[in-house]
Formats: sequence, structure tokens, C-alpha cells
Amino acid sequence: MSNPQAQQQDTHQVVVIGSGFGGLFGTKALRKAPVEVTMVAKTTHHLFQPLLYQVATGILSEGEIAPPTREVLSGQDNAQVLLGEVTDIDLEARTVTSHVLGRETVSHYDSLIVAAGAAQSYFGNDHFSEYAPGMKSIDDALELRGRIFGAFEMAELGANRGDDIDHLLTFVVVGAGPTGVEMAGQIAELAHRTLKRDFRAINTREARVILLDAAPQVLPPFGQKLGEKAKNELEKLGVEVILGAMVTDVDERGIEMKFKDGRVERIKTVTKIWAAGVQASSLGQTLAEQTGAPLDRAGRIGVNPDLTLPGHPEVFVVGDMIALDNLPGVAQVAIQGAKYAAKEIEGRLAGKAPQPPFKYFDKGSMAIISRFRAVAMVGKLRLTGIIAWLMWLAVHLVYLTGFKNQVSALMRWAITFISNDRSERTTTEQQIFARAALARLRRGATDLVSEPGAYDAARELMETTRRAELEAHALEEARLTDTGARGVPAEQR
Ligand SMILES: Cc1cc2nc3c(=O)[nH]c(=O)nc-3n(C[C@H](O)[C@H](O)[C@H](O)COP(=O)(O)OP(=O)(O)OC[C@H]3O[C@@H](n4cnc5c(N)ncnc54)[C@H](O)[C@@H]3O)c2cc1C
Repeated sequence: MSNPQAQQQDTHQVVVIGSGFGGLFGTKALRKAPVEVTMVAKTTHHLFQPLLYQVATGILSEGEIAPPTREVLSGQDNAQVLLGEVTDIDLEARTVTSHVLGRETVSHYDSLIVAAGAAQSYFGNDHFSEYAPGMKSIDDALELRGRIFGAFEMAELGANRGDDIDHLLTFVVVGAGPTGVEMAGQIAELAHRTLKRDFRAINTREARVILLDAAPQVLPPFGQKLGEKAKNELEKLGVEVILGAMVTDVDERGIEMKFKDGRVERIKTVTKIWAAGVQASSLGQTLAEQTGAPLDRAGRIGVNPDLTLPGHPEVFVVGDMIALDNLPGVAQVAIQGAKYAAKEIEGRLAGKAPQPPFKYFDKGSMAIISRFRAVAMVGKLRLTGIIAWLMWLAVHLVYLTGFKNQVSALMRWAITFISNDRSERTTTEQQIFARAALARLRRGATDLVSEPGAYDAARELMETTRRAELEAHALEEARLTDTGARGVPAEQR
């Protein structure tokens, strides 16, 4: 495989940024093309984000939804995987610059697919994130797992001491879209079913699970009828749904919200989960600055109808990063966009005419509420209950990457949905505190790991000093022996 730092190669070089839905499906779609593909991503795994909430609530393990990209692509000879956070794209020089722990890599491209997705948005209130983690990565899901199960543990301790534990047994999920609905439903199932026999001093069934949103309905994209149905199902599960409430403050012990009539209320809660907004990758800004392409409020970049950047037919942007025809931020938009881009690259090399503009085929949307309950929207069809739930199960199984993950997820679901048990309840201090600890590090992870060259210099210095110390010690030992001073107290020598 070619050296990524090399400038020009004979074979057409495609760089793909991101190993999510767009990045992975785009790379796979190029497997038969006469190109060399370099996928650059800041994690070593592909992530199936729709199932993150199941990692957070102990149903699935992180490995089941996040297989190593390197393993997934091991059979694709024309693809290589590079770990690194892309910090710059130079459209003039056609290079992508990435960094990992102080190591810089510059990858040259002939064609580029940018699929860097989106991060959580706190709508300008980034300080909320300290106490209300979002759910975008494996780290987020494991931190939330630690916080959710940890809150029950702390409540048990508090109850044994006779303390007030209401704030520990109150869970607030902000954002009533599919992720918020799924999360609230699962915490309610944990409290009311899974954990009910495990504690002695607390009754987990008394836990309050609150789902709140500024919008007037649950699941807005699903329409009023399905939204109302989902709300009723959640309430049957014991979830309190508060709508029309805008979060105005979040701190360690609570959350403050303001209603349309000006009323302000505070809920005492330790565990807050943010499932409310997204902000496209800042690489959109990098591309916008060089092309003048517009960015919308969520940082998504305006692209041509064929998903290329204005003035740069060799650069495709796909998935959550784009603003085109009001396309939703869902997996299928990223997958279909990436396949379209790959087909266009391959077609151009074969001298074929350009494809018609990209057209998204909506395969439907679904959200699970609890076991045996879901809502689904497929074309004009609106489904609820067990049929929607079975559809949800089948679709998620089909799109989960890797046969071994599909088999093991199916087994975990059987355990959870039939017996109410959860296989992945392990939590660690690292999961809960690592994010805050890392944020306190002045320069992030590079403070913990030396830069290339610095390690060798530091080690040489340490070895030289140590050798000098040992030599001095040996000389002193020899002097004591030679002068007969051994055994004589130091002050009398
Ligand atoms: C909790 C949750 C639940 C969801 N549920 C559903 C659902 O049920 N159905 C549905 O259709 N959609 C769902 N979505 C949305 C769906 O996951 C996204 O629309 C989809 O992942 C977008 O694909 P993408 O390739 O654009 O971005 P992503 O899949 O997010 O991939 C982005 C990739 O880029 C990498 N990256 C980012 N920045 C850089 C950088 N600077 N350098 C290098 N690499 C970088 C990331 O590590 C990642 O590999 C959900 C999303 C979340 C967060």
C-alpha cells in the first residue's frame, strides 16, 4: 500500500474522512473501483449510533455496536485505514492533514469524500455539557451508563443514612426526538423492571424519569398522531413528559426550565442526559471558508445537487454535514449519499456521463419506546405496537455491521426483552470521571503522551542521569572499602 505522505501516485487516490455511516459505506462502495482509498478517522471503530442508548442502559456492549474499522475493511485490498483527527483540508493543494497524539499525517487526494458527521449542540450553552452529557460516542454512552447505574448506588447509600435521595432517583432526558424517547423508555424499564429486586434500602420503582422538550409534541418528525401515541406509551411506562419547556440552566444538582407563559421551574436531579441538538463537524467551516459555500445555523454546508462542493467537483460532502433540500440527519442519507459519491468517482474514471442529481430514497423512520412497543413510519403507513417493534428489530439487525455482532446482539435482546435482565451493567470510575478529568488537562491527551522525538530525548536524559548516579554510587562504595571507612558512621568519616 502506498505511503500516505507521498505526494502523487499513479493510481487515483481517494481520501475518505470519517468511519461512520457515510465514511464506511463510501469506502466499501469503492471496493471494485481502480482506486486506492485512504480512510482517515478520529476513532478506530465504525459506530452504529442508533444503538448507543442500549450501551448506555446496559443492554449491549460497546464492541457490539462499534466494530474496528480496520477489521471491517480487512478484506478490501484497495483500502487502508489511518487513525487521526482531520484538522485541515487544503482544496488548492488537494491534501488532508490529520493529527494523532502530536503525529501529523498529510494525505494527498484526487477525489475526496468528507463524511465527518455532527457533534452534540447545546445551542450556545456549552457549559451544560459538564452536567448533562450528550450521546454521540462510545465514551458518552459509557459515561451515561456509569452515571445512571451510579445514581441508584448513591441513592441506596443515602437511604441507608436517612438522607434525602429524591435528586438521585430523578432522571431527566432533554429532547423528545427518537434518541430521547428511547433513552427515557429504557431508564423507566431499568427502574421499574430490571433493578427492582437488586436494592434493599430504595424502591427503584419510585424513581422519576422525566422527558422534556421545548417543542409542543413528542417525536415531531413522526407527525401528531404517532407523537401522541408515543407520549401515551411513555406515560404508561411511568415516564413524565413535559413539553413546551425550554432548558435555561443546568448544574450539578438540577435543571431549570422556562415555560412559554414565563413560569420558571427547577427539577432537583443529578442525572441529566442531553439528546436535544446537533452541530455539524467544524470541517464544514473549513470548506466554506475556501469556497464561499453557505453554512446553515447547525453548521451544515450547502452543496451542489450532486453532493459536490461549489467549484470543486472532486470533493463530495455527505451525511450529517450537508444542507440540501431539507434532508434529515439520518443514517440512510449518509449511506445513500456516500454510495452516490463512490459511483460518481468510479463512473468518471470509466469515462461515463455524470449521474442525475442525488435523490434520497426515504425508507421510513422508527423509534422504539420499550420492549414490544415502537412507532414506525414507512411511506404512508403508520405502525405502532409489536409490529413496529418487530420491524425496528429486523432493520437494526440488518444494518448492524458484522455477522458476529448481529448474532450476539440478537442474544442480548433475547435476554433483555424476555427476562428483563441486562448483560452489560459494569461501570467504572474512569467511565464517569474521565471526560471531566481530560477537559481539565490544559492541552488534552497530548499532555499525557510525549510528542515524537521528545520521548527519546527525555529517555536519553533520564538514562544519562541515572548512569551518572550509579557511577557516583559505585565510586563512593569503592572509596568506603578502600579507606576502611565502611561501617563507620557518616559524621565520623
Ligand atoms: C444517539 C443517536 C441515535 C440515532 N438514531 C438514529 C436512527 O434510529 N435512525 C437513523 O437513521 N439515524 C439515527 N441517528 C443519526 C445517524 O446516526 C446519523 O445521521 C449518521 O450517523 C450520519 O452519518 P455520517 O457518516 O454523516 O456521520 P457519522 O456516522 O457521525 O460519522 C462521522 C465520522 O467522522 C469521524 N470524524 C468526525 N470529525 C472528524 C475529524 N475531524 N477527523 C477525522 N474523523 C472525524 C467520526 O469519528 C465518525 O467516524 C442517530 C444518531 C445518534 C447520535
